[in-house]
Amino acid sequence: MDLEGLRINGERLRNSLEEMAKIGATPGGGVHRLALSDEDKTARDLFVKWLEDLAVEITIDEMGNIFGNRPGKNNSLSPVMSGSHIDSQPKGGRFDGILGVMGALEALRSLDENNIETERPITIVDWTNEEGSRFAPAMVGSGVWTGVLDRDWVYDRTDINGKRFEDELIRISYQGSTPVRKWPTHVYYEYHIEQGPILENEKRIIGGPKGILCLHWYDIFLEGEANQVGPTPMEGRHDALCAAAEMILKVNELPQRMGGDLVATVGEIQNYPNSRNIIPDKVHFTVDIRSWDDDHVMAAWESVREDFENIARQRGCPIRIEETLRVDHAVFDEKLVNRVLTSGKKLGYLTLHMISGAGHDASYMNRICPTAMIFVPSIGGRSHVEVEDTRWEDCEAGANVLLHAILQSANER
Ligand SMILES: [Zn+2]
Repeated sequence: MDLEGLRINGERLRNSLEEMAKIGATPGGGVHRLALSDEDKTARDLFVKWLEDLAVEITIDEMGNIFGNRPGKNNSLSPVMSGSHIDSQPKGGRFDGILGVMGALEALRSLDENNIETERPITIVDWTNEEGSRFAPAMVGSGVWTGVLDRDWVYDRTDINGKRFEDELIRISYQGSTPVRKWPTHVYYEYHIEQGPILENEKRIIGGPKGILCLHWYDIFLEGEANQVGPTPMEGRHDALCAAAEMILKVNELPQRMGGDLVATVGEIQNYPNSRNIIPDKVHFTVDIRSWDDDHVMAAWESVREDFENIARQRGCPIRIEETLRVDHAVFDEKLVNRVLTSGKKLGYLTLHMISGAGHDASYMNRICPTAMIFVPSIGGRSHVEVEDTRWEDCEAGANVLLHAILQSANER
């Protein structure tokens, strides 16, 4: 078999992505498949069913991470691992995460039908709760597996309705019995949509990110004083929502004030009691700050935290701050990144060496083994929204690059 001429089946990949997109499909053309929801379960069941058609050994661990291991010629060698996540953002897109799982699945299907044996085993993975939108923080499946996060701490995380992570994992029957613990891994590849506009702007098809921006999440809780809005004079009010409004603008102005590549966002807010004629007495909102430079983010956070405390004092609204997630910027393995770019060029695609602004399970995997990612363009740079889209031929291109990167690594002794 001429390995160089091997290609994945683009139509089969498209069909699999379209089947998956039906699970949690939204009227606007996206998917709503929150971690550990019924939709997540249905998509997992389909993924496991497809794995059963392959020559892989399926394992589900205590975090609900799903692994499919395809033996190699020499199974004492550590495996090449590749995958991503099946869960989505609320009203998210049809490609985020699932492309990397279906891309790796398609690579394995292509190896199987061509009877190709590799030196090393190859493991496909679906990581639990990458998004972190139902249960914060993000990337907990890979986080616990790599030993960065504590399993029981994650089990006790609750969603907005007070449902516990572990209870929901049991409810959808995906709490496996295999201890959640990393094993020696040769390399990790994650195939993903770019989720930004750079590849499209530069007219390139394959991105090889040199790493991922650092990611800091904070949760802010404000207390105010509720009262009837009509009879209560403006003076002396303790309006938690007004305090939050001022703070949110401070976050928005932060990148301009600090300079560099910083981005800062408030994306979620809960206001209580959320009634038009009651002064808000409780507000919760989130802060997300990212940059390539970890110290820069810390300096920015210290500055905005001071603003928060001043605003809280001026408005008489006590503030409580939780540091929910801190992931340092990840620098991927240079050799592997080059392998992605070279494979892309060999297959005839225009490539780009870039940076990932989005967090991925690859940041945790990067701590335990050489890691690289493969990006394909997001149309209009849109992601985490229903209109998220990627051309089918680009999906196919990325999966071919993944296949060849996996093959090269899996044939290393
Ligand atoms: Zn993703």
